[in-house]
This record gives sequence, C-alpha cells and structure tokens, in this order.
Amino acid sequence: MSQQPDDSSCSPHSPSPERLKQFHSAGRGPWPHVSDADWRDWRWQLKNRVTNLAQLEKLLPGLTDEERAGVQLADTKLAMAITPCFFNLIDRDDANCPIRRQVIPRGEETNTAPWEMSDPCGEDAHSPVPGLVHRYPDRVLFLVTDRCASYCRYCTRSRLVSNASGYDFQPQFDKQIEYIAKTPAIRDVLLSGGDPLLLSDEKLENLLSRLRAIPHVEFLRIGTRIPIFLPQRITPELCAMLRQFHPLFVSIHTNHPRELTTEVRDALGRLADAGIQLGNQSVLLRHVNDDEVVMKALVQKLLMCRVRPYYIYQCDLIAGSAHLRASVRRGLEIMQSLRGHTTGYAVPQYVIDAPGGGGKVPVSPAYVLSRNHDRVVIRNFEGKVFEYPEARDGTPLYKPSENFTAPELV
Ligand code: SF4
Repeated sequence: MSQQPDDSSCSPHSPSPERLKQFHSAGRGPWPHVSDADWRDWRWQLKNRVTNLAQLEKLLPGLTDEERAGVQLADTKLAMAITPCFFNLIDRDDANCPIRRQVIPRGEETNTAPWEMSDPCGEDAHSPVPGLVHRYPDRVLFLVTDRCASYCRYCTRSRLVSNASGYDFQPQFDKQIEYIAKTPAIRDVLLSGGDPLLLSDEKLENLLSRLRAIPHVEFLRIGTRIPIFLPQRITPELCAMLRQFHPLFVSIHTNHPRELTTEVRDALGRLADAGIQLGNQSVLLRHVNDDEVVMKALVQKLLMCRVRPYYIYQCDLIAGSAHLRASVRRGLEIMQSLRGHTTGYAVPQYVIDAPGGGGKVPVSPAYVLSRNHDRVVIRNFEGKVFEYPEARDGTPLYKPSENFTAPELV
C-alpha cells in the first residue's frame, strides 16, 4: 500500500531539558530476581532478549493492535529483539514512548511507498566483494555480521540484519581483507554490520590486527550501538584489547537522551579512558527526537558522556519507515535551534544519504545569503544580517545569476 509522506511536526509535549539530561539507571524492571552477576553479564542479556509476542504481552500490558500486528510480521521482515536493559527504558504507560517506537514493530511497517527501497543507500551496487562497500574513494565499509543486540525498526540495512527476509549475509573476511590490501587508495576502514562488538574479543582482535597490518590503512573505525543496547559488553578486557589499535574511532548511535543511562555513561567512559575517540550518529525520527528540546538535551548529554555529536541523519527511504520519518523541514529547524544556541562541539552535521547511492549530502539552514566578488552577506544565529568584504582572491566559485535575490530570512 502506498502512502504520502507525513509532514506533520513533533509532539508539543517535550519533557523539560533538565529532566531529559538527568542520568538514571536502567534498573531491573521486570527482572528483579536475576542475580547481579547475571544482570551484568552481556551474554545473559543477549540470551534473555525479548523476541516474541508472548513475552512482550506479558512484559508490556497494553500493547496496541498496531504493535501486535507488527510483532506478528517481524519475523518475515526484520526480527524483533530487545535486550532487557534497553527494554527497561520503555515507558509502559505511553504507547508513543520514544524508546518503544524505535524497537517495537508496528503494523505500519508493511505500508510501503513507491519511493522506498530495501537498499536505500545503494550499498549492494557498490560492493566489490561480499560484505564490503566501496562507495567513497579512500574508505570502505566492512560489514562484519548481520546480528545486532536489538533491532531498530528504521534500520537502513534491515534487508540483511537479523536475516528475517532471507538475505543470507555471508561475510568473507579473507576476501574483504584481500581487496583492501590490494587497493592502496583505501586509508580508512569502518567496521559495521550488524554490530561488530557482538564478535568475541578474540575474533575482533584477529580482524583488527589483520587490518592494522596493511600499511596503507591509516585509520580504523567501528560503528556500534552496543554501548547503548548492551553496555555490559564494554568490559575492561574489551577496552584493553581495542586500545592496541589506535588511531581507532568508535561511532555510537543514540537517538534520545533517555538512552543515556548511568550504565551507558560508564561504558562510554571506559571506552574514552582507553583513548578511543567517540562520536555519535542519530537518525531523525518522528515522535522520537524531531523536537528541539529533545535534540538539544541529547547533544548536551552526549558531551557529558565524552561523546562528540557527529551526524544527524535524515531517515533513509527504507521500505515501511514512513511512520518514523520526520520531514527535512523539521531537521533544518532543529539544526537552526542548535547552531549558535549551544556549544559548537555539540552541533552535529545534518546529512541526507542521497537515495540510491549518491552518498552523504550535508544540508544546513542558509547562513550565506548572497555572495559576489566583493562581498558576502551572512546572517547569524539570531537572524541579524552582516556584510563581510571579500578578499582579493575571492572570485566566486560560481557566477551568481543576474536575477539572484537573497532568500528571505527564516
Ligand atoms: S543497531 Fe544499527 S545495524 Fe543494528 S538494527 Fe540498529 S541501526 Fe541497524
């Protein structure tokens, strides 16, 4: 069934910034009987994930018909799995809880529009060997696994993660490494998936060692949501292993300040103490974080966790995600509410991954109003307009149209 994009704006009832920025433990919720040792064991968390309707009905009274329908269909599209510690962040009295919307499937996922795709970033078309995406000249995406600790309902790679739709992802590390070794232009390798931190320490160490041994690989990155979904996995042993491979950057993925619990903050602190540079990627999601107050609290709270907000992604055109996609207009309004209104380090880059494989395109509210050979007209975060005299070598990169008029101030 096709549907038009919904452009309506965010919930008007944002909690206060102070409340959003408080750190709380995820607590034990409906698992009070579990021993401390088990609760803190990441393998126990994985083994006890919420994965089916019977469990969910028991743990979350008041499941909506929309959610019930979604859970029943999940195993044919993108599996449902929620770690107990992340499950505890759900507000059971709020059917529109921003945590709940991210991980509990809804029947709306079966609504697909003609412009939606199963591979919106065109990764498969840029894959020289299975599990490797070479889209940009000097860097590659190295897909390590199709498993995650929990599954995000808007996942760009839902075609392959969880293997619910039979993609049969088979990474071939030898071939992936061989391609990188024989391609000297590649200086940056991003491990992703699925979640690379689900690999055992030994397997991950072996993979990082082999990549580090390639002379032209200057820089390694890991994209992971494990510190959020499964902070117990960030053990001192894992951090000690990772620190051998500097420069190593880790990009986490957080969408709402409530995800930053005391356990998550401590796990991120362990990574930062191991000298790992931490950045965050968020996806702009309707009724999750398409709200100025929520997004500002998130980016400020990330800095308190020693994480630099890096990207806000416009939600990709993944099939069945219309109910979660916020408009680009909302994204621009949110960017405008951040730039100049909070610490520059807290302001991420807003990007749209151009549909079909065009790569990331930065989008930003307009601060340059006009420009010619002798002046640049700019506006600041308060909307005040200024002229800056252009330097002598400032011949415009493009010739402004003769009919050009400065855009109206927002
Ligand atoms: S953790 Fe990342 S790869 Fe896994 S489901 Fe979520 S967005 Fe997709």
